[in-house]
Amino acid sequence: MGDICNWSPERLREVIRESNIQSANAKGSQKYVIWENYALLNDYEFIACPCDESCWCKRHSCTGHYRIKEIVFGEFLETYVKLWTPPKARENIKNAVLFGTPFNGRQKNAVNPLQWLRTNWSDVLARVRSHNKCGLCDSSLPVVEDVTNLYQAKMWSQLFYDCIVPFDTKSKTRLTRAGYADPSKHFMSTNGQLFSDLRRLSEDVGMDIDGVRNLDAPWGVVAHLKRPSNGQPLSRVLDKMFYVPE
Ligand SMILES: [Zn+2]
Ligand SMILES: [Zn+2]
Repeated sequence: MGDICNWSPERLREVIRESNIQSANAKGSQKYVIWENYALLNDYEFIACPCDESCWCKRHSCTGHYRIKEIVFGEFLETYVKLWTPPKARENIKNAVLFGTPFNGRQKNAVNPLQWLRTNWSDVLARVRSHNKCGLCDSSLPVVEDVTNLYQAKMWSQLFYDCIVPFDTKSKTRLTRAGYADPSKHFMSTNGQLFSDLRRLSEDVGMDIDGVRNLDAPWGVVAHLKRPSNGQPLSRVLDKMFYVPE
């Protein structure tokens, strides 16, 4: 068990809000607070919850789960660079993935996983879309390939926006300090622990899934964002408990 269970919803809301404020103000960064809103509205659909009362989600007023739409790889890549990489690196990463143009920038570890994904796009997308659960469901988490670097983690999080939490160098440190296993070594088990602690917190304080999704409210920080009617994807809520942009 990690620290999430010991935090109050008020404190979590404040930590997440601070993450959003820093994202909105960070110069030269990807400003995820803007792009995740764009991604959510363009690349994802909210499917009716398929679970029955035997599932934790249904017992906590779940109405549905976010799932990636049937998009082409080019759209996924465009969203990937906007969500996870700074503006000045975006064109170079896209060219490296699509045309094999040499790229030796800080984000170079993004290229191989994205090329792998491009090659296997239709199979992977079909597999991802067949998973109709959310991270708070009792059932097992989706099976992902071995994740060892943070750009791979971001890729899988984007594929499973409601189920898989990404990490980066700083959030990794915060996660381990909060009692979680190093996500670069134990990616899926750390992910599972985060969701299990989120379930426990929600039970302890009597908060349903809507309350969990709305711990993150970026539209309260950047006024022009469109508030999604179903709240935030669960990976965003968990990520921001630990992530503060540079
Ligand atoms: Zn559900
Ligand atoms: Zn469920």
